[in-house]
Amino acid sequence: MSADQPVLADSESPPRWEYQESRENPSLAAVRDRYGLWIDGGEVEPLSQKWFPSIEPATEDHLAMVAEAGSSDVDRAVRSARDAAGDWATRPAGDRAKFLFRIARLIQERSRELAVLDTRDGGKPIREARDIDLPLVAAHFFYHAGWADKLDYAFAGVNPQPLGVVGQVIPWNFPLLMAAWKVAPALATGNTVVLKPAETTPLSALRLAEIAADAGLPPGVLNVIPGAGRTGADLVSHRGVDKVAFTGSTEVGKQIRRRLAGTGKPLTLELGGKGAHVVFEDAPMDQAVEGVVNGIFFNQGQVCCAGSRLLVQESVAADFVQRLRRRLLTLRVGDPLDKNTDVGAINSAAQLEKITGLVEAGRSEGAQIYQPPCQLPDRGYWFPPTLFTEVSQSHRIAQEEIFGPVLSILTFRTPTEAVERANNTPYGLASGVWTAKGSRILWMADQLASGVVWANTYNQFDPASPFGGVKESGFGREGGRHGLAAYLKGMG
Ligand code: NAP
Ligand code: MG
Repeated sequence: MSADQPVLADSESPPRWEYQESRENPSLAAVRDRYGLWIDGGEVEPLSQKWFPSIEPATEDHLAMVAEAGSSDVDRAVRSARDAAGDWATRPAGDRAKFLFRIARLIQERSRELAVLDTRDGGKPIREARDIDLPLVAAHFFYHAGWADKLDYAFAGVNPQPLGVVGQVIPWNFPLLMAAWKVAPALATGNTVVLKPAETTPLSALRLAEIAADAGLPPGVLNVIPGAGRTGADLVSHRGVDKVAFTGSTEVGKQIRRRLAGTGKPLTLELGGKGAHVVFEDAPMDQAVEGVVNGIFFNQGQVCCAGSRLLVQESVAADFVQRLRRRLLTLRVGDPLDKNTDVGAINSAAQLEKITGLVEAGRSEGAQIYQPPCQLPDRGYWFPPTLFTEVSQSHRIAQEEIFGPVLSILTFRTPTEAVERANNTPYGLASGVWTAKGSRILWMADQLASGVVWANTYNQFDPASPFGGVKESGFGREGGRHGLAAYLKGMG
């Protein structure tokens, strides 16, 4: 491929459509000025007497002040979960199913409000929150409600038992969806929960606790304690916690694993990724372009399984990159509440700084950058869709997780070389293969060191399908029977 692709002639540019703004109503999600912690079935003032702002990344406005759980608050939440554990574990399983079904239905009823809440608090496009996050959140509760009274069949002959009190820590990229992935299987299997949402997106987890209370969930079964990393560290190292489930960065995952070493506590880690999209010369090119665009620009690329590396066969590379560039011209970046928006706001100033730093490293290491012309709003945290060509394996942008809308493009000649390159990162979460040959798909799926391999598609999620990584992307699975096992004694 040449050092830089020729700039598209006007005649080659795709038609630019004018869109009428179609803004979702922000007041669909009422937000109060202050939120407390959710402990023992209700909202309480923090013993820490500390509060922090949650910001709307698209405007940089303060959305709300949120209580920060200090160590005595963590203690209080864990005790509440412990007090509730006996009753919850020994109830008839059908009873637990009933609560989960109710929660699922309430989520469906309130899905528009919850989508707006996650969009405002986290910056994701409303189209994604509404059409992807929320349906999956409800599906997760429905699915696990179905399992609650069938555990004896899922784990026949071994008398499956809950672990007790579960400490869960989640990130900000899919605030309510990550909460659902954690809470639904834990409750279905008879555990009680203390959940710490991310500092930048605590609001929907607090609303989930309210919804659970509306569904009649007994006090103490689900506690939500916002805070920063310190709160997460207090929770995972609390002696009263019987199991830890963490989703977040590999760096923090390693710290948690060190902290828990020798305690014998079950641990699951869902960590970072550097997913490879492998496009062979016989792939359906236009579909592959759509798949690659979806893989890296979904949620501004702030996705653990983002397809952030494109490996394209050399014979079609120039053509493929040209098609990608044309497609990038049609992406609409801006107000996440506008239903036309494809790429919303970056979650925080800190994340924007991290993306900017890695993109600078890409430039200074010699890769060629392409960004389509786009006008970014004056306020808020934004980053344009970005492609890098002339990327080599050793570049930081080919190795490190950027967690932003930035695609690093490499080429290969043979399937073996594609596998070697795809596997050449410390991560192993997800990858995509694009080819017309079924046998090649199966061979690649076998060769790729990756928890998930999608073929001729990308970013497909289903509560029945286990999701998780290998290598430094972590261990343990969420979803399916595997996901239940992680919350049962002796099974995880
Ligand atoms: P992060 O910095 O590791 O934070 C994740 C969560 O851990 C947050 O709630 C965070 O609190 C908390 N935390 C921070 N330091 C902690 C500590 N020492 N002990 C315990 N908890 C601590 O990750 P992030 O930047 O929020 O999220 C992005 C990362 O998550 C990416 O690497 C992404 O790939 C990964 N991710 C993985 C999956 C998966 O399923 N494999 C899914 C989504 C995201 P604060 O919010 O206050 O920092
Ligand atoms: Mg926020």
